[in-house]
Amino acid sequence: MNLLDGKVTAAAYKEKIAKEVSELKASGNRAPHLAAVLVGENPASVAYVNGKVKDCDEVGFKSTLIRLPEDISQEDLLSKVEELNNDEGLDGFIVQLPLPKHIDEKTVTLAIDPKKDVDGFHPENVGRMALNLPTYLPATPHGILMMLEHYNIETSGKHCVVIGRSNIVGSPMSILMARNANPGNATVTLTHSRTADLKAECLRADIIIAAIGKANFLTADMVKPGAVVIDVGINRVEDASRKRGYRLTGDVDFEGVSEKASWLTPVPGGVGLMTRVALLQNTLQAARG
Ligand code: NDP
Repeated sequence: MNLLDGKVTAAAYKEKIAKEVSELKASGNRAPHLAAVLVGENPASVAYVNGKVKDCDEVGFKSTLIRLPEDISQEDLLSKVEELNNDEGLDGFIVQLPLPKHIDEKTVTLAIDPKKDVDGFHPENVGRMALNLPTYLPATPHGILMMLEHYNIETSGKHCVVIGRSNIVGSPMSILMARNANPGNATVTLTHSRTADLKAECLRADIIIAAIGKANFLTADMVKPGAVVIDVGINRVEDASRKRGYRLTGDVDFEGVSEKASWLTPVPGGVGLMTRVALLQNTLQAARG
């Protein structure tokens, strides 16, 4: 089994992005500028947003972190979004999800100017993705494509099984793998909790992309020898030996599947790092206009 290493791949892409930022600055442009809106104190969201700010620093982007209180009204949050839409010094911004329950995420997503929607969640950008038009691709599927590209993994003509149909991972991933593009041109089966015989579907797959949210769900008996396996899952599993009381694990039983797969992503150190790089790539694209 070969490792699809998120650390190595992310570093390679960051180096390229940093070089492009230097070139932009050298030709008199300002640095790309990303803002992140964080509502409340959800520890996972705080960690994600801090990571995004750190990534911006590393490649020479400007970043602005906007922290808003948990009890902010939807109206006030929408005013903030409007302000960011109109801020000419800003290339793109994200509103970190999930939002507190009293705020409707769809309304907020719809309020973001599609030109600044570097998360690629606005329906206009989702539609452009489906039509294979230039757009911001959603970060996790985009990061997976970047990883496949980095390792020259052939996808054309392959049978790809995506497990999970969420709006942010599984569904866009299935569209992107089926597009007439490279990576892409795969024959795709999108599976979910109502799929009749998931094991039989997986055993036919040359490429499996698991985005389920259940620790160690995909086991070796579900994988064809030589398959490429991408593990999107990030699950907390209790672990008393760790200081924080848990460890992170993917949706794939890494040990078992590593005996069967030709390529496999680790968790942590795989798709999560690529998701972060994809956001940088989208922001660079926004800055270029
Ligand atoms: P969602 O909970 O939104 O979607 C999970 C999907 O898995 C659903 O479509 C669900 O089917 C399907 N599913 C659940 N149980 C089964 C089953 N037994 N058999 C087949 N399909 C099943 O999750 P997300 O897509 O948001 O995230 C998935 C995982 O990826 C999570 O662990 C999350 O933390 C992680 N993640 C990682 C990212 C990264 O950067 N690495 C980024 C985003 C997410 P149904 O629709 O029928 O309910």
